[in-house]
Amino acid sequence: MTTFEPVPTDRDKPRDECGVFGVYAPGHDVSRLAYFALYALQHRGQESAGIATCEGGHITTLRDSGLVSQVFDEEKLRALYGDMAIGHVRYSTTGGGSWENAQPIWRDDGREVALAHNGNLTNAVELWGELKERGIDFRGTSDSEIMAALLSSHGGKTIEDAVEQVMPRLEGAYSTVVMTKHAIVAFRDPHGIRPLSLGRLDDRFVVASESCAFDIIGAELMREVHPGEMVSLTERGLETRQVVRGVKRSSCVFEHIYFSRPDSRMEGNVLQQSRGRMGEILWREAPVDADLVIAVPDSGNPAAAGFARASGLPRDDGLIKNRYVARTFIQPGQELRKHGLRLKFNPLPEIVAGKRIVVVDDSIVRGNTTRQIVGMLRKAGAREVHMRISAPPIRNPCHYGVDMSTREEMIAHGRTIDEIADELDCDSLAYLSMEGVYEAIGGSPEDHCDACFSGRYPLGDPEDANGKFALEDIAVIPAS
Ligand code: SF4
Repeated sequence: MTTFEPVPTDRDKPRDECGVFGVYAPGHDVSRLAYFALYALQHRGQESAGIATCEGGHITTLRDSGLVSQVFDEEKLRALYGDMAIGHVRYSTTGGGSWENAQPIWRDDGREVALAHNGNLTNAVELWGELKERGIDFRGTSDSEIMAALLSSHGGKTIEDAVEQVMPRLEGAYSTVVMTKHAIVAFRDPHGIRPLSLGRLDDRFVVASESCAFDIIGAELMREVHPGEMVSLTERGLETRQVVRGVKRSSCVFEHIYFSRPDSRMEGNVLQQSRGRMGEILWREAPVDADLVIAVPDSGNPAAAGFARASGLPRDDGLIKNRYVARTFIQPGQELRKHGLRLKFNPLPEIVAGKRIVVVDDSIVRGNTTRQIVGMLRKAGAREVHMRISAPPIRNPCHYGVDMSTREEMIAHGRTIDEIADELDCDSLAYLSMEGVYEAIGGSPEDHCDACFSGRYPLGDPEDANGKFALEDIAVIPAS
C-alpha cells in the first residue's frame, strides 16, 4: 500500500502549540461562547478542536480532528449546554495527532475533570511512570492526560487544593484550564512561558490563551494570569491564589514575534504595533538600497509596514497568499512539480518586475518556503531580492510547547548569515538582533525565554527534556 505524506504548506514556520479557553457564565450560551473564542484562537492549532460543558453536575465533552468549523455544527453546539465550558484547539506537541489526544481530555479517577492544556511538561515520563505504578491507565499519549490524571486522582477536598499540590510537581510549560462539576480553574506555570489571560464578560469571568478570544465574544481583557497563579471561576465569582512564588519569569518571546495574533494584547503591547516597531528597528540595523518593500503575507505584514515607514520606501503587495490553504493529501504529480506548485503564494510580476525588492518576513526555520519565494520573485522579474527577517536566526529547538523541527533541519544551524543567504539565493539577508526584539516589545532577556534563538534554556539542560513522542516510546497503545 502506498502511504501519502501531506503536502507541506506551512512547515517553514514553527508550529504553534495549542489554544485554551474557559468560561463560567450561568444563563449564557456557554458552548457558543466557547465556539467563537476557539474560532479566534484557530491559528494556535488546526489538528483538532473540542468543547466540554457542565450542566447540573454532568460534564459532556465533544472533540474531534479538524478545524473548529469542521468539528462543530448547530446541532452539536445545541447538545452542549450548561453553566460553564472549556475549549481547546490543538496542534500536537507531545503525543501524536491521534484522536485520543484531542482535548478537552475527560477523566474520572475519583474526581470528574475535563482539561485543556497549552504547553509541554518536561518531566512527563517520570510522572507517567508514577501514575502507572499507582494503577492508573491512559487512553492517549499526551502530557495533558497526565495532568488530568494527577488532578482527577488527587485526594484534595477541592480542585483548588488539588491544583495547589499538583502544580509544584509539574515541570515545563503549562497554561491549563480545568473544569469540574463546580468550577473552572485555570493555572499558569511558574515561569509563565505560555500565555494565559483573564477577562470579564458582564458580571462573569473568562480565561483564554490570547485576548483576541475575548474581543470576538464581547468580553473585556482584565489582565494576564500571573506566572504560578491559579484563578478559579465559580458561583462565588473570581478567586485567585499565588501557588508558586519567587520563580524567574520566562515568557516566550516568540509569541510577540509570530505565534499570537497581531490584534492580541500581551505584556502591555498590541502585537501589531510591537511587530511594526521590529520592522522599524530592522531598517535601522540593516538598511538597503531598494525600490519596494513587500511582506511575506500575512505574518510578515506588520514588520514590513514598519520597515517601509522607517525607510520611506514604498510598500506594495508583491506576493498574494491563498488564504484558504490547508494541508492537502493530494499529491501535485510530476507536471506540477516541474512547474513549481504555487500552493501558498503567487507573485505579481506587474508589481515586482524590474525592481530591487526588500522582502520582510518574521522568521525562517528550514528555509524551503523562503528559497521558493526568492525564486518566484526572480522569475517574476525582480531585479534584486533582499531578505529582511524581524527575528534573529533560529538555531535551537523549543522544549516548551512549540514544534520547530530538529536542529539539523534548521537552515541557520551551523551556517553564517552569508552562507544562509547563499542557500536562499537572495542578494542580501539580515536578521533583527535579539536586542532589537527586546527594544520593540519593551522587555528584556531577564524575564523572557529566547532559547530557540540564543540556546539559553530557562528551565535547564534541554537534553533532559522529553521529546515529542516520548510517551509513545514507552506507552503501549492498544490498536484501534
Ligand atoms: S524556545 Fe523559543 S518558541 Fe520555545 S518558549 Fe522559548 S522563545 Fe518560545
